[in-house]
Amino acid sequence: MEKLKLEKGQRECPKCSSSWDGGSILETFIKGRDDDSQKWCKDMTNEEIEEDMKACYSAPYRWGREIGIELPFDHPNHYDGISYYQCPDCKTTFNRFTGIEEEIV
Ligand SMILES: [Zn+2]
Repeated sequence: MEKLKLEKGQRECPKCSSSWDGGSILETFIKGRDDDSQKWCKDMTNEEIEEDMKACYSAPYRWGREIGIELPFDHPNHYDGISYYQCPDCKTTFNRFTGIEEEIV
């Protein structure tokens, strides 16, 4: 069976096609300011929140639903960072470097 491949920047699962887009980061913070769930920006304007958000996140400034998996420190293939991305819906895993569907062993 041919392995599926996750292309760089792809925001939907190659297997089940679910969207990995978790929504606008800016909208989360503005809504959070207004409902008091994001206290860090309670006295900030929308423009100040946007400026702060852009300094801390990367374009396209959207949350990702995919799950980043780092292998344990004692794993033979341990890498100091994310090694796999996993679909939150069908749980298929993709190698972070090659994009190829892969079982974690
Ligand atoms: Zn999936």
